[in-house]
This record gives sequence, C-alpha cells and structure tokens, in this order.
Amino acid sequence: MRTLNLSVHTLVDFVLHSGDLDTRVFNLETMTRGTQMHTFYQAKQNQKYLAEYALEYTFEYENHLITLQGRVDGVIVNANEVIIEEIKTTNSDLDVFFNNHERWHLGQAKCYALMYALRFNLETIDIQLTYISQIDERKMLKRYTFSKDELQKDINSYFGEYLSFFYQVEKYEKKRTKALNALAFPYDSIRTSQKIMMEQVEHALEHEHKIYFNAPTGSGKTMAVLYPSLKVLADKSDTKIFYLTAKGSGKAQAENALRVTRAKALVKSTTVNAKEKMCLNDKIACNPDECPYAVNYYGKVRAALIDAFRSEDDYNNETIMKYATKHNLCPFEYQLDLTLLSDVIIADYNYLFDPFVYLRRFFDKKIGNYIALIDEAHNLPRRVMDNYSLVLDFTPFYGFRKVLKGPEHKKIRRIINRIVKDINEYTEGIVSEFETILEFPNELRNSLERFLVVGSEYMQDQGADLVEGFSDFFFDVNKFLKILDLVDEDFVLYTEIDEERTFFPKFYVKCLNGAKFINEVLGGIDHALFFSATLAPAPYFKTMLDIEDDIHQVPNPFKKDQLLIMVDDGTSLYYKDRAETLGEVAAKIKAAISVKTGNYIVYTPSFVYLEHLEKELGNNEEYDMIVQRQGMTDVEKEAYLESFTLSPSKTRLGLAVLGGSFSEGVDLVSDRLSGVIILGVGYPPPSFEKELEKEYFDNKLNDGISYAYVYPALNKILQTMGRVIRSENDYGFILLMDKRYNFNPYRAQLKSYDGILVQVRNANRIGEILSRFFLN
Ligand code: SF4
Repeated sequence: MRTLNLSVHTLVDFVLHSGDLDTRVFNLETMTRGTQMHTFYQAKQNQKYLAEYALEYTFEYENHLITLQGRVDGVIVNANEVIIEEIKTTNSDLDVFFNNHERWHLGQAKCYALMYALRFNLETIDIQLTYISQIDERKMLKRYTFSKDELQKDINSYFGEYLSFFYQVEKYEKKRTKALNALAFPYDSIRTSQKIMMEQVEHALEHEHKIYFNAPTGSGKTMAVLYPSLKVLADKSDTKIFYLTAKGSGKAQAENALRVTRAKALVKSTTVNAKEKMCLNDKIACNPDECPYAVNYYGKVRAALIDAFRSEDDYNNETIMKYATKHNLCPFEYQLDLTLLSDVIIADYNYLFDPFVYLRRFFDKKIGNYIALIDEAHNLPRRVMDNYSLVLDFTPFYGFRKVLKGPEHKKIRRIINRIVKDINEYTEGIVSEFETILEFPNELRNSLERFLVVGSEYMQDQGADLVEGFSDFFFDVNKFLKILDLVDEDFVLYTEIDEERTFFPKFYVKCLNGAKFINEVLGGIDHALFFSATLAPAPYFKTMLDIEDDIHQVPNPFKKDQLLIMVDDGTSLYYKDRAETLGEVAAKIKAAISVKTGNYIVYTPSFVYLEHLEKELGNNEEYDMIVQRQGMTDVEKEAYLESFTLSPSKTRLGLAVLGGSFSEGVDLVSDRLSGVIILGVGYPPPSFEKELEKEYFDNKLNDGISYAYVYPALNKILQTMGRVIRSENDYGFILLMDKRYNFNPYRAQLKSYDGILVQVRNANRIGEILSRFFLN
C-alpha cells in the first residue's frame, strides 16, 4: 500500500474547479471581504454550530492509503440531522455565481460530509451551500441530502481522476531523484571560489535559515547555489527552489545553469514573466467579457498542465506560449499554475516579496521544503520599500465624472461625487506642494471603502462597456487601502498638490525601511541564500536586510593586477563646479581612452551632464561615440550594448548615466569592455522623498545622510565598477573622478577593493600609467 496525504482543497480544485478567470470577482478585495464576512457569519451562529471543524480520514483506494484532511466551514448538529455547511461570499450575482461553481463547491462539501459520516457512522447526511452577497449581504441557501454510499462513489471518482495524474508525477519524481543523486558538478571544472562558496552553501542548507554572500563577478555563484540546492531536492522530494532575481539578466543566468544541468539530469523549471510580457489579449482586462483567454480558464487548464508536464521540462517563455495558445488559455495565469509542477521557479523578487503579487499557491499554506536563492540581493531592500510605497492619484475622476451620465451610472456617480467632496474639503487645509500628514483622512477612507464595494458590482454590470481606466483606478484604491492598514513608524504619509490647484492632490504612502516585511516572508522559507557581487557597504545592508551574522566574502577569481583603479580626487564634480571642470574632465577621458584601441564607457552624474559632455567630446576621428538616451526601448538598449564588439579596430566610447540601465547587469566580457570612467560619487539629488528618508534614519540611527544618500550612492559606484572584470581572463581599468573619493566611506571601500589602486591628478599621468598597465 502506498500512502498519500491530500487536502480537500488540492483534490477538489484539481478535479472540479472550472469557470472563468475574472479579476473583478476574484481579487484581493473580495478575498479580504470574504474572510471578514465568513468569520462574522460563523460568529453569529448558535452554540450547536461547530465552526472551522477539522476533519481527517484515511481511505483505502486501489493500492493507496489516502489521508484526506481539511476544515469544514461549519457543522450544524440538530437533534435528528447533521448539516455540513460551506459558506461562499461573492460580489457577483448569487444565482450566476452558484450556477458557475455549484459542482466545485458541492464537491468540497461532499468530501467533508463523507469524512464526518464515516467518523460518526451516519448513513445519510445533509449539506448546505450558503451564498452571501458582498454587496448587500443577501443570502441564498442550497440544501442537499446524500447517503454515505453516494458520497463514497463520488469521492472515489475524484480519487481516480487525481491519481491518474499523480502516478505520472510520482514516476517523474522517482526518475528525477535517481538522476540528481547521480549528478556530478555540471560544469567540466570547478573554480576555487565556487568550491569555497558551495561548501558554505551546503552547510547552510543543512543548518542555517539565512546566509549572505558577497560573491564577485566570475566566481560562478549561480551554479554554486543551484547545484547544492538540487542535491537537497534529491533528498527531500517536496523541495521547491525559488530562484529570485531583480532583473531579466539574472533570470537568463539561472535558465542557462539549468539548461546545462538538464543535459545531465532531470529537473523541471518555470520561468515566470510579468503580465505585460505574457498577455495575449489586446489589453490587460482579465475577465471573460473582454478577454477570450479568460473564458473557462479553470475548465481548460488541467488538460494544458498535463499536456506540458508529459512533454516538457523547461517551461520557459516559448514553451508557455506554445501550450497556452494550443489550449486557448491566459499564458500569465498558466505559467503560475505550472510552477506547482516545477522543481525550480525562476521569478522576479515580487513573486516572493510583493504583498500583491506573491505566489499564494505556495505561501498562503506551506506545501513543502522551500529554498529561496536571492540573486543580486543588494537590490532587495529598495525593491521591498517600493513594493510597500504607493501613490493614489485622483486624476482619473475628472474623466469618470464627464462620461458617467445616465441612470445606469447613478450609484457609482454618487460615490464618486462623495469622494470629490471629501477631497475638496480636505485640500482646503493644504498649503505646500508637498506636505507630510499624520493620518490619512478618515472620511475619505470610508468613501473609498464604499467605492470598492459599489465599484466591484458596477464593473461586472458594465462588462466590456466599462469606461477606460476605471478598473485600473479600482485596483489602485484597493492596493492603497491595503498598504494603509500596514502603516507604522517605518512609513510616512504625504500629499502633493500642483501649484495652481487645478488637479486633485496625490496621496503618498512611503515605506522607509522594509526589513520587517522581508523577515516576515523569510518566516515561510526553510533556507534563504542571499548573494550579490556588491552587498556593500556592509553597515547599510546589515540594517536594511536585518542581517545579524557576517556577510561571507567569496574570494575573487581574478588576480589583483588584472584591474587598475585610478582615483582622480583632484577634479571636482560637485554640482556647482561641473561647468568649470567639464573641459578638464573631457581631456582626462581622452587621455584614458587614447592609450589602447578598445571599448570604454563613461558614466555621468545625470542626463544633463551627459549632454554637455557629449558636446565637449564632440566628433573625433579617434573614436566612435554611442550615447544613452532617456526612454530607450529594449531594442535600442540591446543595440547600444551590441556595438561593443570583441577586438575592435577603432575605439568605441559609450556615454551612460550612473545608476541607469547600463550601470548594472551589463555583461561585456573580455575586451568588449576595457575600462570605465565614473564621474562623481553617485549621490542622488536632494528631494522631498530623500529628505524624508534622511529624517527617518536620523531618528532611528542618528545617521540620516549615510543611509539616505551616501550608502546607496556607494553601492551604485561599486556596481558600476563591477562592469570591467567579468571573467577570469578579463583585464581593464576604472578611473574614478571626484574630490569626494578622498573621503570615507569611499576611501576605505576602495582600499579594500581587489585591484591596483593609484592616485592620478592629470591627463599625462593617466596616459603614462595606462601605457604601463596595458603593456604588461
Ligand atoms: S491574456 Fe491578458 S487580459 Fe487575458 S486573462 Fe491573461 S493577462 Fe488577462
């Protein structure tokens, strides 16, 4: 006999779930409201009502012992009857909702009813499906009576259907375990840095909850974290490996590493991409009225999952699109469902750390041993702060008020007018363009909550005729109110008004420190491995990631003399001095790039400076210039990078903005990049928001300037410096220009950086030093 533990949800959702994908009906707002109404309804029942009653029963089915578990919403025990109750709330029409989902809901209740009947030896049992409207709290009750035998027959049919697929999963898992156990390190050779890092990873996967690595470029960190994690999967077959990245380049590296692994072993992975990238519809409107790929999504997805599972292991963009198109399904939602059948999930940080996007399938209820591999982890604190920072812009109201005329819009118009009134009254007290506020106005908040209730019904009534922008605004309000509930001392609220007061104000909620949210997420993870080439400066990341232990330093795979770091701390790049020093800067750049024909990038403090420098450097026969422009498309960005070719016959000089698209994730190996010149120290310009950060860290750590300005800037510089040496055989130079490199923490950080560090003050010296460097 084989044993299997199964939740009622897993069984019934797999076998019986059908119907449309519809974000108007199933969204965060309806889920939250549903939970509240659920609890409220249960609390109002009498003493004979057993709420959230836990049931478990072990069934013998074919050669399996299946332990089924779950919690029924309620059990009503009367003198001569027992009723199993399932409660469903919806913002949809109750009859429509019931007709669409009866089979699914009833199937769930049948499982509980059978478990109860078997446990208490009942021959017949009643079921009640209770539907409650989230709009007006109207109720609709549906009653059924079943004999124990009828229920057993139905549940057996669910087991049969589930097991037919489960056998395939089981077979795959056995083959995978065997292959992974036999898997040697997938690359031909193993680097020293990789070996050292892997030993620490292996130890952490056995004994630690969290570990942090500063692993320089070229240290082979992707495979160093992935290979030991796959070995854990061989050992514990319920392991799920989440490879989380901040950028597309990180995903590509993980995909490559898995491709190499897959040539020698069996492993299934899904690469999750953003909705904007995956959507097959002409606009993102996830409901059956506006998107054919949403129609009966749940009825079609099972066959599509089985189809892909049988034939593919690499669920990348191409595979997902192929099967989604074949089965006429939304590819975005389909890829999320595929993650459940995958060993490794490659995704953006948001799928773990964004409160609105995270993979609920895994984290609402833990279903295995989870390993999170967090790539380029220096991006995480800022990303989490951004996830919890929102702006509520009321501008769309102008459009809505103009077009929503007529009786069918009366109800929603009334609530929109109320919101406008609340805003106008509140705005009277605002005087400055930006103002912090202690609390979000209570009346406006109540009106917005009412807007969500009325708006959700309105969206469904309007269907495809819904006015443009309404659903976006609806979900913005929804998110904003959710974040407002979390506001504490790590947040700040403020308003922005335009000077002429022609627009409604914008309301901002800004998270200043996301460490506790990161910790909350990690509470649901068994092992979290953070790695980055620049988890520095250490004090900053220790605070922002709440790191208690040391950050492990992985040795550099290249020799010190492969990198020359020249510091010109005689040139001022202070904002006030930039016009004056521009000529001198241009002369030094020319001196640096004229020694050897090669590829170079100059990073400037801003786009304005970049334009001035472009003019100053001008057309020159000695080099071809390529310049970063604002708002470049992906294709243009790719063309920019492609222009840096191997063994160039003429010097290529790129101009780019420090901290922009070409400062990070750019991988120009060998002589595709021989040097970078960094102008300035990367300070962000002062702004209202930056000053709020400074004030917060002044209060918290008495060091606002460092945390708001200096540390993030220094991290940006270190990232940019990392563009030069990309592999073990690369060599090149970095020229840093600004007086502020003479001060700490820059000075101290540069001293500990692997490379030959020299001070340069004039163009001739730059030329001399570089001639010697390139000669060697
Ligand atoms: S295809 Fe696009 S619009 Fe349709 S459900 Fe998917 S994401 Fe939404």
